[in-house]
Formats: sequence, C-alpha cells, structure tokens
Amino acid sequence: MSKPISTTTLSARQPVIAVLGHVDHGKSSLLDFIRKSNVVEGEAGGITQRISAYEVQHKAGDGKTRAITFLDTPGHEAFQSMRERGVEIADVAILVVSAEDGVKAQTLEAWKTIDTRKLPYVVAINKIDKAGADIQKTKNSLVEHGIYIEGYGGEVPCVEISAKTGQGIDFLLETLLLVTEMSELTSNLTLPATGYILESFVDQKRGVSAALIIKEGTLPISGAIVAGTSISPIRIIEDFAGRTIKSPHAGQPIKVTGFDEIPAAGTIFVSGDKKEMEALVEIAKESKIKEVVDPKLYRNAKVVIPVVIKADSLGTLDAVKRELKKKETEEVKIKIIAEGVGTISEGDIMLASSDEKTVIIGFSVKLENSARDQADRFNIKPQLFDIIYKISEWFDTVVEERLPYEEKEVVLGTLKVIKNFSTQKDKYVIGGRVETGKVTNNSPVKIVRRGIELGRGKIVELQSQKLKVEAVNEGTECGLMVETKFEIIPSDILEVLVVEKKRI
Ligand code: GDP
Repeated sequence: MSKPISTTTLSARQPVIAVLGHVDHGKSSLLDFIRKSNVVEGEAGGITQRISAYEVQHKAGDGKTRAITFLDTPGHEAFQSMRERGVEIADVAILVVSAEDGVKAQTLEAWKTIDTRKLPYVVAINKIDKAGADIQKTKNSLVEHGIYIEGYGGEVPCVEISAKTGQGIDFLLETLLLVTEMSELTSNLTLPATGYILESFVDQKRGVSAALIIKEGTLPISGAIVAGTSISPIRIIEDFAGRTIKSPHAGQPIKVTGFDEIPAAGTIFVSGDKKEMEALVEIAKESKIKEVVDPKLYRNAKVVIPVVIKADSLGTLDAVKRELKKKETEEVKIKIIAEGVGTISEGDIMLASSDEKTVIIGFSVKLENSARDQADRFNIKPQLFDIIYKISEWFDTVVEERLPYEEKEVVLGTLKVIKNFSTQKDKYVIGGRVETGKVTNNSPVKIVRRGIELGRGKIVELQSQKLKVEAVNEGTECGLMVETKFEIIPSDILEVLVVEKKRI
C-alpha cells in the first residue's frame, strides 16, 4: 500500500473521457462535434499535428469554467484493439447508443468493459434528429440488457443527443462534469508524474515525440520520462494544440518531444530525476529478451499468455519456466517476454504494462516498494509464490478465464405467479407453481407478462411447504422472495435462468 498522503497535496484532476459504443452509432461524429464547437478554430488545426486527445473548456452549472479531456481514439488503430486500455486511461466513459438501432453487440461489449472496471459513465442516446429514432425503444433495450438508466430503475445518467445538429451536447458536457465531481478525481502533486503514452510521432526535424496523459503527479522540471525502454528529457512540452507549456497538470493531454526510441501506444510512463530514469531504462533493457518470436508458433493458439518471470536464482527460474511450459497445448501458448533473477522492479511493471494480458510471476522474490506503488496505480497484480505447484494451480485458472467461451442463457424452468403476498421496497414475496423444469434459489429470473419481458430479478429465497429449499420441481407449488425493480403480479410467468459457458 502506498503511504497515506496529506490532503493538501491532492488537487482536483481534470477528467479524461472515453467514448465507446457500437460501430456507426456516432462516436467519431460526437467527438468531432465537441472538438469543432468547443476548440477555437485555428488553435488546434493546421500546422500542428492532430493528437488523439483534446481538451475543451466548459462552463459548469456553478458558472465556473472547467476543462475536460476527450480521448479521440475510435478510429485510432492502436486503440481499436485496446478498448480496455482506453477505459483504463479514462476516468469517465460515454456509452453511445443510436436511437435508430438500440443496444447492439458492441454496445454490450463496451458496457461490460466499463462495468468490469467500475468506470463511472453516461449513456448518450444519439441520432435523435433522425426520422427513424425511437428514444423510448432505445431506453427499453438498454434496460432489457441490464443497463439501468435514470428513471428506469437505475442511476446511470442518460442524455439524448444529436451529434449532427448538436442538440443535447451541452447537457452531455454538463452531465460529464457532474459525474466527474461525484467521483472526486484527485492527483497527488508531490509524486513524480505517471500516466500513459497515447501515440508516438516521428518528425524528420524534431525527432521522436509522444502524446501522453498524466494520470497523477507533477512532471519534474529538467527531469526525464521513461516508457518501456525509451527515454526523453522533459524539455519540450506542448499542449494538444501545439502551444508550449511549462507545467502540465494531470488529465491534460500533452506532447513531449525528445524520445530516443519510439514508445509504444498504451504504455505506462514514469518520470523523475534524470539519473534515476536512466538507470530504469538500463534495467528495462537488461530484462527485455531480444528474442524474435516466431509467429508460426502462435498461429493456432486460441490464447497466448505473455509472462514476465522473476525468481531468486537461475535454478528456480528454470523450474518456473518448466512448470509453465507444461501448461502449453495446441490452444494455449506462453510467451515469455522477460525473465530474470532478482526482485520485481518498476522496470518489470513497465515491461508488463505494454500488453494488458501480461502476467508477472515472482518466485521466492519480493516486489520492490516503488514497483508496488506503480503496479497499484495501474492495476497490475504481480503474483508472488514460493511453492511451485501453486504457480501451476494459479496458472490453470488464468488459462480457464482466457480461453474463449460463449455465455448462453438457458431457461431452467418456468413458474406461474399465483399470489403476491407482500411487497417491500424491491422485494416481492409471492406464491406460484412450477410449470416446467425446475426453479432454483439464487437464480436470475425474467419477468414475463403476456409473452413480453418486463425486466429481470433474482430469487433470494425459496420455500416449499414452509421449509427453505434450494430447488423445487415441475408441478409443485412454492413460495419465493424475488428481488427486482419491476412489479410482479399474479399470472406473470417467471423464467428461471442459468448462464451456461460453452467453449468455442
Ligand atoms: P462511429 O463508427 O461510432 O464512430 O460512427 P460515426 O460517427 O462514423 O457515424 C456513423 C454515421 O452516422 C455517419 O454517417 C454519421 O454522419 C452518422 N451520424 C452520427 N451521429 C449522427 C446524428 O446524431 N444524426 C445523424 N442524422 N447522423 C449521425
């Protein structure tokens, strides 16, 4: 754990917003509209390179102007495959849903990513200017998929917009500021700056520069920045519009020029004293294996797991590698991106950070304090072991989680509601008869009335003949308590669901 910090060193942080959603639902149009209508013409365009993030100033409800950063990445190739990383860089997300199409496959994928990361978000129902727009239907489709928006049993703010006419966009910005305020974003100013590289540029005259976002801390004056194995002095800093700045703040997109190698998009960077940073690069270079990986080897693999291994001796390092190699099959391949003897350092964390699938394994070694802080900050969880077979057990769970599978909802049984005994808040105590299959406790249910799904709930208690039971079979009457935000009345049908995972 990092040391407790005094609140005087914490400053409010400018929010970084990611826009996610199904293809063609209007992510780029929205980002373009906000950029065009809020960034003063001539400032950002023309001569300077357009970086994939920009800043707008928005007058908040209290009359004060606040800055918001947008990641302008949907079309950005590196970020296409890095939606997760985009979400990691962001503080708040906008989930764009077209009012013509409603929720689609990628809407759900994006939502899952947001939900897993517990990222605050706002739903933007877009294209409301179009003749085919159906806001009500879109809202229903959100709720049907468990995206509980405000006014529909949930708390997720939902704003109706048109990225074409600009309708509702001011309100969207306002809502983003409100959500930001509630999530109390801060940056500890006493720490040296850390954050993410967004992209890199090579300029014939100026050399290598990178667009980056500081997530926390302050850039040390006349220090250096390290990302992977590349380093740059902190000398030439510009804001997104190409204006030279001295002291950028957390959340602000900036461009730093002077890297010696091209840093990879999505990598974590750290900053600090020049000597310290140079030492870090040496460590990163040393532990990086220069081996060229044969792509043929991975062609048939369903899962490739990149690993960084640190152990207390060459012997144990070998043992760990042998153990991992045993786990390889046609479908599962292990790619060792770095290995070495010694504690897990900041350099190891940085190496792992370039690919979020990377796992760090330490055997009979410790995690250096600085590396721990770094790992915490970027949500990387190095695994420390001192018994070999534990590595093996843990690795099996990693493989299990990563092999692709389909989740299918299957109806286990149906129950007809006969009586509603009582309703308390979101809890319904009802009596019913199992019409088909069986009903099991703690299962999710679909509430169906006249063939139409009204919403979802969960069985939290099940009784048969006044006794608590775990399952009730077809043809039996039972009592149950269902937790739901939707009303249940007699003759409704509850479909009891199980989620089946099927390997694909
Ligand atoms: P993305 O794939 O999510 O980035 O979607 P785009 O921004 O490329 O939009 C897909 C199409 O929808 C384009 O032809 C846009 O012009 C159009 N579009 C996006 N937003 C709106 C909107 O609010 N109203 C209308 N009428 N068209 C829109």
